[in-house]
Amino acid sequence: MVKAILEEEELVQSIRRVDKKEEFLSALKEEQFDIVLTDYSLPVFHGLEAIHILKTKYPDLPVIMITGNLADEIAVDVMKKGAWDYVLKENIYRLVPAILNAVENLKIKKERQSALEGLKESETNYRLLAESSPYGIIVHANRSILYHNQVAMRIFKVPDKVKSLVGLKIEDYVHPDFREVLAERIDRLYKGEMLEKEYEIRFLDFEKKELFLEVASSPINYNGQPAAQVIIRDIEERKKMERDLILAKERAEASDRLKSSFLENLSHEIRTPLNGIIGFASLLKLKDLSHEDRDNYVKVIEDSGKHLLTIIDDLIEISRIESGQFELRSERFLLNEIMDDLYLFFNNADFYKNTNVILGLTKGLRDQESVVIGDKARLKQVLFNLLSNAFKFTREGRIDFGYRKPDEDGVLFFVRDSGIGIPEDSKDIIFERFRQVDNSSSREYGGNGLGLSICKGIVNAMHGKIWFDSKVDQGSDFYFRIKLNFLNTAVVSRKLNHSSGKLKYEWKGKNALIAEDESSNFILLKHILERTGIGITHVKSGVEVISKLETGDNFDIILMDIKMPELDGMETIKILRERNIQIPVIAQTAYAMTEDRDKCLKAGCNDYITKPIRSSELLGKMHTFLNNQG
Ligand code: ADP
Repeated sequence: MVKAILEEEELVQSIRRVDKKEEFLSALKEEQFDIVLTDYSLPVFHGLEAIHILKTKYPDLPVIMITGNLADEIAVDVMKKGAWDYVLKENIYRLVPAILNAVENLKIKKERQSALEGLKESETNYRLLAESSPYGIIVHANRSILYHNQVAMRIFKVPDKVKSLVGLKIEDYVHPDFREVLAERIDRLYKGEMLEKEYEIRFLDFEKKELFLEVASSPINYNGQPAAQVIIRDIEERKKMERDLILAKERAEASDRLKSSFLENLSHEIRTPLNGIIGFASLLKLKDLSHEDRDNYVKVIEDSGKHLLTIIDDLIEISRIESGQFELRSERFLLNEIMDDLYLFFNNADFYKNTNVILGLTKGLRDQESVVIGDKARLKQVLFNLLSNAFKFTREGRIDFGYRKPDEDGVLFFVRDSGIGIPEDSKDIIFERFRQVDNSSSREYGGNGLGLSICKGIVNAMHGKIWFDSKVDQGSDFYFRIKLNFLNTAVVSRKLNHSSGKLKYEWKGKNALIAEDESSNFILLKHILERTGIGITHVKSGVEVISKLETGDNFDIILMDIKMPELDGMETIKILRERNIQIPVIAQTAYAMTEDRDKCLKAGCNDYITKPIRSSELLGKMHTFLNNQG
């Protein structure tokens, strides 16, 4: 009957009939069915068992029970066990609608399932996308957060103990200044409006610190409700980079300006003494010059030359400091001797032509207590630079300098003047190289802006500190504090004679060998030495030095230029020392580098002198060796 109905209605393509459990199971295995119709009780099988098998193994296959007669409670049981429907044989007309209903329902169920699966997949994809995004992503609806990725947590500096932002109110994390603008935008988003591209908004992170974010948001539907998806990017770094870039650009421009103004100054600084040299040298050619004029002109030339030399020395010193090729020397000296030397030098009345200045010196220790080990020349240079500035910028009043009694923090040196002072806004720059309070080329005081940066470089290298106090029109107090290594005993004998150049040198009967390839240099040396009565032999290369000594000529001293053709000075000295020729050698070079000095001494020189040669220095050094020999 059932078969007839189904065929008549053309409801099914095929029908398979079974009445035993094994047949039922193998049929299910062999074929795919759309529906199972079963009797309640069969001779060797049972409808309820069939339902049970289907529910556990084929839950999607609908089953309808067709039965002759069913008590209500059994019907309920059948439905409970999982039948889709039951049809009484007497109401068999219900079979077709029941089957159609079951099939339709199955179809809907399958569709929903696949829709759900699709949804799940797209949600997983969305999350994957969101999690792998380098930007923070937040979805919010009704102004509270529904979803966010991990980057968003990082951007807002969410502490570890907070595991999720879901449920938090957006407004609480917006900078108060931006709340209004943002509220308006959020309203538009919830209404489905697209907003303009990206915009920048300040937020507050979990530490309540300001956060500069770039935001791009769009309206979306999230779980069926209108929501907003927000992509956020931390632009603090970018903003900082922009600021740095602007700063770097400004600095580069400033340094460019500085360099040109430095070159202008330098050119001015070099031209001034050069003018003196060239101008007065040509005056010297004039006939009928009085002795006095000639002496004056020569003095100008000498002074200008010395001035030029200090500029070059400064440049070399600063480049050495800046390139880090700067080594401090260790020698034993009397601190008070440096102070006295400086006092003598600066107290010279015509220095900077400011005769109205009184110079005072304070020494924190007695002479015999002031024995230290350190870099004497560098320490003196710092004080010299500070005193030069003090004299340069003080027309009248007092300049006091000196040092205080050392304590555990080291020695405090000071140079105090009553000069023009330094304006507040220049305080930070004057220790920078090439910087002056007034960088314009028409400055009235001269100088190249290197003095203080050299001071700072030296004091830093000595692990010390340099600073100053100043008031415009009242004066400046410069200080530096360094640690010095004091010796307890006065082992250094004090050389009170500061002007060894004025000694009378008498070396009649002694002989000097001068190795010098440049004739102008030789003429100068000859000129300096002539007055001493020393015998002079001139050679022009290292090779000649060696052959002269081999021929048995006897010399008391050798003055050796380092840069010579064939065999240079350094090699020559090495050869001499290897051959055990111990005549004192004073080397001369044009490079005022400490390393060269050390190289010379290592090669076997007894002393070293840099060009241009100052007669007092040369004679003083020769004196040491010639006198030792008696
Ligand atoms: P400069 O060779 O120009 O003197 P410095 O580096 O020694 O170079 O000094 C830099 C600038 O600092 C000076 O040009 C001057 O403007 C200011 N300065 C330094 N010392 C003093 C001082 N004692 N009184 C007033 N201004 C000073």
